Amino acid sequence: MRYIDDPERMEKLPGKPLAEDDRFAFRCHPDIGCFNKCCRNLNLFLYPYDVVRLKNRLGISSDDFLDRHVDVVMRSDNHFPDVLLRMADNAEATCPFLSDAGCEVYPDRPGTCRDFPVEHGVRFDADSGRSDLVHFFRPPDFCLGKAEEQTWTIEDWAEDQEAESYNRRTLRWIEIKRLFLRDPWGPEGPNGRRARMAFMAAYNIDRFREFVFNSSFSKRFKVKPAALKRARIDDDALLAIGLAWIELFVWGKPSSILKQKR
Ligand code: SF4
Ligand code: SF4
Repeated sequence: MRYIDDPERMEKLPGKPLAEDDRFAFRCHPDIGCFNKCCRNLNLFLYPYDVVRLKNRLGISSDDFLDRHVDVVMRSDNHFPDVLLRMADNAEATCPFLSDAGCEVYPDRPGTCRDFPVEHGVRFDADSGRSDLVHFFRPPDFCLGKAEEQTWTIEDWAEDQEAESYNRRTLRWIEIKRLFLRDPWGPEGPNGRRARMAFMAAYNIDRFREFVFNSSFSKRFKVKPAALKRARIDDDALLAIGLAWIELFVWGKPSSILKQKR
């Protein structure tokens, strides 16, 4: 998922644009000649919910997951880092979760892997302030799945891949990420304390839990009681507080679940 502010840039994106009711032909299965070929040498962006699902799947802490499995990169067009899944250090740069039998984390695979070969974007119109979802069919040349007979709409495909909940959460993240087109960090820059705290709230859920439940957090912030109760036992609910906290802490934006105490 990417955000697109510039209509001219959107026109140049590769792949075939898909309208809601367009159908595309695709089928992927273990007997296909290209099986697993797409799980290597990827720039696979991980969004906050991807990390929660993967680290729980692997039974490791979010600290360990970040240490072992991600590269954090700062791009010139945004003031919040991107997180990429680190490919294995082998000749083909395979995904670390790829085995001969396929994806070892399949039930919790990242949203991008679920959407593939569809890619979503969010188009912002600065004049009207409106945002629309746009979709592209982008199988790589070597992907034989596009020659299969089965056809899908975007909605059918998302349902089949259990991708709707991922897409909803990614959209929420993209809303926040878009705020970082402006630099909020000032002289302390993107490696300062505030930036590191915001990164923790988005990507290091176990550290964020410590911060919420074992610091002066509750003295400084008012969390909706039901949300806080759920967050004690549910990483996804805790992440919702984390994202609301970034908006409040960095941008001063209160939300229905989180406010500053007076
Ligand atoms: S390249 Fe396409 S058809 Fe082949 S395994 Fe990947 S998604 Fe499936
Ligand atoms: S997470 Fe699974 S589906 Fe995604 S690239 Fe890795 S092996 Fe392939």
